[in-house]
Amino acid sequence: MKNVTHWIGGKPWTGREASQRGDIYNPATGQVTGKVDFATAAEVDAAVRAAAAAFPGWRETSLVKRAAVLFAFRDLIVRHAGELAALISAEHGKVGSDAAGEVARGLEVVEFACGAPHLLKGSFSENVSAGVDAYSIRQPLGVVAGITPFNFPAMVPMWMFPIAIAAGNTFVLKPSEKDPSASVRVAELLAEAGLPDGVFNVVHGARETVGALLTHPDVRAISFVGSTQVARGVWQTATAAGKRVQALGGAKNHMVVLPDADLDLAADAAVSAGFGSAGERCMAISVLVAVDPAGDELVGRIGERVAKLRVGPCDDERSQMGPLVTREHRDKVAGYLESGVADGAVLAADGRSHPIIGGTPDGFWLGPSVLDQVRPQMSCYSDEIFGPVLCVVRARSYADALQIVNANPYGNGTAIFTNDGGAARRFTHEVEVGMVGINVPIPVPMAFYSFGGWKASLFGDTHMHGTEGVRFYTKGKAVTSRWLDPSHGGVNLGFPVNR
Ligand code: NAD
Repeated sequence: MKNVTHWIGGKPWTGREASQRGDIYNPATGQVTGKVDFATAAEVDAAVRAAAAAFPGWRETSLVKRAAVLFAFRDLIVRHAGELAALISAEHGKVGSDAAGEVARGLEVVEFACGAPHLLKGSFSENVSAGVDAYSIRQPLGVVAGITPFNFPAMVPMWMFPIAIAAGNTFVLKPSEKDPSASVRVAELLAEAGLPDGVFNVVHGARETVGALLTHPDVRAISFVGSTQVARGVWQTATAAGKRVQALGGAKNHMVVLPDADLDLAADAAVSAGFGSAGERCMAISVLVAVDPAGDELVGRIGERVAKLRVGPCDDERSQMGPLVTREHRDKVAGYLESGVADGAVLAADGRSHPIIGGTPDGFWLGPSVLDQVRPQMSCYSDEIFGPVLCVVRARSYADALQIVNANPYGNGTAIFTNDGGAARRFTHEVEVGMVGINVPIPVPMAFYSFGGWKASLFGDTHMHGTEGVRFYTKGKAVTSRWLDPSHGGVNLGFPVNR
């Protein structure tokens, strides 16, 4: 059985033996396949000290050399993409194509960060006053930390560290304890790419480990991605400790379907976005808002597609959907089918009786489910389920649909399906959500745009990657300079103003 440990100062941790460990499962079999060490405050301190020691040298390393390390890392990720995807599938349960897609989307941020020399350019104004020039530069913060969720064990860390280290910071990652192996492999590949020891470190663990990072005096900034409840607490604790924080939380993403939409396209999109990765995506569509009279037709077409989905283990490449991440999570998600029906929803597809092809009975299986006639008061609507359950809410009109979306406390992603450009434009303008798709169900922005939601889906105000990512990991400095000139005006006690 494997044992996953921390990566500190450019090598696996060989210090004090862990006093606490977590189990790592293969969700397709339900078997424990390994253990992961949990870091106490002492190991967290060792990682932060390693990062702090590496910072002066790394920030003085030329931009071109930092970018060269990232280019080499990019090539290594490409070469090891299959291996990384297999590691992810084995611990998360997602099917191979999905895990490969996650690596590919993470890679895009690495490629974006390779442009650091361009991204970190400042600005310069000549002659802001007679003989005086002004310019701005952006400088790294120091040691920064990332805390990431189970559902994207490679991609979400890659939203953070490539830009952070490209900007000259050093990094401590606390990945999810449920699927920790990908982050250690990434650390090895960064070392192989030539990243100096201590610039990238990994500590494993859960609540206690996170707490030690949030309050460590030498950590300057925290990037967090996870559930809303934890995101809110992380934001409160870390900002109170004086840190810069971006904490991305949970989601309830609505897909609005207007009656003029191509209903086959909409049904394909709802099934793909609702059940891909077993619904364990922060950008998954979890609520379909069917505007009258599209509802019955749409639910029928979705039902036909759902019945054909092949659910099975990730090592069978014919599987389209894998198991859920843990037994507890599987049971919690299944509980929403019971509560939904008890609250008056109609179970149009029941994942509990969906065939599982090739899976062992102890795996954390739950097939795709559709709850129709859902109303906003029901807990299956108000809670983030984070599993393969698509709730269908019926709306009387566009205005009714918009009101439903905007009344929801989350604001991560949303989509509208229509052939009416005017309606799509109006929705984009009026909807209170951070990422919008028009006939695109999972509008995850490319690396050169920024990823982030509104309302209870984000605490802090900076989104991840893109230009907002660069801003988050740097601080601005404005410089005003004058070089000795015989025409200077002598002593002047007045406040400097431009003439
Ligand atoms: P989670 O909140 O349980 O855990 C996230 C991280 O926080 C993990 O590293 C975990 O070890 C740590 N953690 C858990 N409980 C903690 C506590 N009480 N105190 C301190 N740290 C704690 O989330 P998860 O189950 O790993 O991931 C699923 C959640 O993440 C969903 O809510 C999903 O919507 C969200 N998510 C959001 C985005 C986004 O971009 N907004 C992206 C991916 C996932």
